[in-house]
Amino acid sequence: MKVLVLNCGSSSLKYQFIDMDNENVLAKGLCERIGIDGFLKHSPAGKEEFAADMPMKNHTDAIKYVMDALMDKNHGVIADINEINAVGHRVVHGGEYFSSSVVITDEVIKAIEDCIPLAPLHNPPNLIGIKAVEEIMPGVKQVAVFDTAFHQTMPEKSYLYALPYEYYEKYKVRRYGFHGTSHKFVSSEAASALGKDIGGLKIITCHLGNGASICAVDGGKSVDTTMGFTPLEGLAMGTRSGDIDPAIISFLEEKENLDTKQVENILNKKSGVLGVSGVSSDFRDVEAAADKGDKRAIAALDVYYYKVAKYVGAYAAAMNGVDAIVFTAGLGENSKSCRERVCAYLSYLGVKIDNEKNSVRGKLTVISSGDSKVKVLLIPTNEELVIARDTKSLLG
Ligand code: ADP
Repeated sequence: MKVLVLNCGSSSLKYQFIDMDNENVLAKGLCERIGIDGFLKHSPAGKEEFAADMPMKNHTDAIKYVMDALMDKNHGVIADINEINAVGHRVVHGGEYFSSSVVITDEVIKAIEDCIPLAPLHNPPNLIGIKAVEEIMPGVKQVAVFDTAFHQTMPEKSYLYALPYEYYEKYKVRRYGFHGTSHKFVSSEAASALGKDIGGLKIITCHLGNGASICAVDGGKSVDTTMGFTPLEGLAMGTRSGDIDPAIISFLEEKENLDTKQVENILNKKSGVLGVSGVSSDFRDVEAAADKGDKRAIAALDVYYYKVAKYVGAYAAAMNGVDAIVFTAGLGENSKSCRERVCAYLSYLGVKIDNEKNSVRGKLTVISSGDSKVKVLLIPTNEELVIARDTKSLLG
């Protein structure tokens, strides 16, 4: 079975085409600037990369170009559109409707539409992608894999905000969590790598990329996570503030003569390590500046790692213990100093890192030393593979 995995953003579309008989990626790529002008980059396995400007009015145009690229005689990997057996979509918000992946039906589309108020920037392009596939490949089965689904196992005490209960009842204002596909994947990989049944493990997964979240996974189930009603809650991130005192919002509105939307934009796009350092949202740039002694870059990284360590401690408390800590995503997989700095806070848990093993990048590795009470692992995440696996298992 060959599965096309689509991740549709507001003006972009990322794809992978995977042969699920052997889980080989046959091609991957991305379309950018959809609705503006349009650019396609297509990387077929074992063939030369193809990149070109292409006019893309909408996601339907973009998906048509992806089909053309997949079937092209020079850089294509299939001869006929019928070789795409199924399509798996990343869908950001499934609200309280979905606790696992589902085959897309009219009812599922309606439920994803109902969740638009919860993810106004993300669910609409996800739906456009689903409808574009229906138009271009009528009859091809599609599956939705939700960022929120894995966290639907969180108990009430984790997901309720201490707000008047009526806002939960009326508007579903509660904590949902995101990055669920990644947390589920790396926690299950960790159990396999340790040769243990996940049912008996307490794992803390740290997804540290530009967007970042931590999840407490008890017995294979998410019991708490740092992102909340939106992906703004929790850790400091590339450009997002993470947790702040909510009173700061009206304070800034008054002092800077801003409206709520403008402050929200600052919290999402101008804060985090970018905001504190003034250097960049890319950790490589901030680390380089800090190495040269830039005080604000040093402060940005201090704030960032301190908060990661605090949440690891919080989740060890929430689960009354921790057997394994996992680092994943851009920073977690690639930055030795990230893992070192977080773990330096955790000696009270009996965490010990093996310096040599921790020098690895982007490869599944147990980086804790033999006598560490808690196993620490670096595990590359692979959300596309999870989407393709769920698609295959639902469609058989
Ligand atoms: P997202 O999917 O949230 O956009 P990624 O998981 O791709 O993000 O992570 C991107 C982040 O990872 C960037 O901020 C980048 O600086 C960081 N990163 C990637 N490689 C390294 C590295 N070698 N050292 C430090 N940070 C890195």
